[in-house]
Amino acid sequence: MKIPFLSFELLHSAIRPEMVTAFENFYDSYWYVLGDRLVEFEKLYSEFNQIKHTVGISNGLDAIYIALKTLEIQAGDEVIMPSNTFIATVLAVSYTGATPVFVEPNLETYLLEPTKLEAAITSRTKAIIPVHLYGQACQMDEIGAIANRFGLKVIEDNAQAHGALYRNRMTGTFGDINATSFYPGKNLGALGDAGAITTQDDSLASKAKMLRNYGSQQKYRHDVIGYNMRMDELQATFLSVKLNYLNEWTEKRMEIAKRYREQLISCKSIILPVVHPDATHVYHLFVIRTERRDKLQEFLQENGIGTLIHYPIPPHLQKAYTHLGYVKGDFPIAEELAKTSLSLPIWPGMNFNQVDYISDRIKSFFT
Ligand SMILES: *Cc1c(COP(=O)(O)O)cnc(C)c1O
Repeated sequence: MKIPFLSFELLHSAIRPEMVTAFENFYDSYWYVLGDRLVEFEKLYSEFNQIKHTVGISNGLDAIYIALKTLEIQAGDEVIMPSNTFIATVLAVSYTGATPVFVEPNLETYLLEPTKLEAAITSRTKAIIPVHLYGQACQMDEIGAIANRFGLKVIEDNAQAHGALYRNRMTGTFGDINATSFYPGKNLGALGDAGAITTQDDSLASKAKMLRNYGSQQKYRHDVIGYNMRMDELQATFLSVKLNYLNEWTEKRMEIAKRYREQLISCKSIILPVVHPDATHVYHLFVIRTERRDKLQEFLQENGIGTLIHYPIPPHLQKAYTHLGYVKGDFPIAEELAKTSLSLPIWPGMNFNQVDYISDRIKSFFT
């Protein structure tokens, strides 16, 4: 059996007629940037998240960057983030001139550990970026309480967790201003690059809108040095269609994860992802851990099963960040996760036969 790590085939063939019609309407609208379709998607995404504002941005990395800029994060500031995040979180902070400060995640949930935050806070700290990594919501109440106590801003990186909940409230609604990505492989994915900011705050939302569009609110009047970081009208068109299916697709991801757990619980050589009792997990990724990760990945490849590693090198050991002066051993949990994590295929449209085959191959590897 051949099972790719990710396939859009079933997902996209099922909605093809709707997507093609939406494209034709876009094509015939003769309006291609900052038009009605983006406004429509922003409205729909705000409704989905039960939040006041969505601002469509060119991609997830730019969305984090714009979020930081609206909060006026700058050189000399420090911004706290988990030591095991995807590089985009770190890059966005670097663009502002601020210094990324890493805090180790919880070894079971892989998420920013609130009890370790306080030790990382200095007089320069301005903001915390919790990352709902792999699709599980961070402990936002605990993180928010610490942020409040120290007067820090919170920016959620919600690129992997559209629709996940912490104590029944959706990710992307806790922070002062939050960022998400609609990269094609994300749980809600465009057919190209796209991202967004979400916020309850009117003035932050209008500032973000200005920043994404040349620092302009009124055509040819520029109040700040802005950027061209707008979500594409075409991507907004596709995303409005796909948003209707997000809940259904999330349920499918959850069912696949449940099946993996049932099949793999007996396999004592691997560690399954742990979900915090107050959080939900929308399974952007299903990440297992084993000391024999590389050999297991090779074995699964030989058996036709595609897997990936998220992520093989933690940010503090990336060449791009040698100037921060970190060495191996500085963030042992992030390093351990990088060494032992393996992401199994999980996409809506996968069937239980495929999940069972993958699980069976994993068990046979260890016996
Ligand atoms: C994908 C991702 C981003 C960046 O999004 P892009 O749209 O690819 O720029 C940022 N943070 C996390 C955690 C991501 O997974």
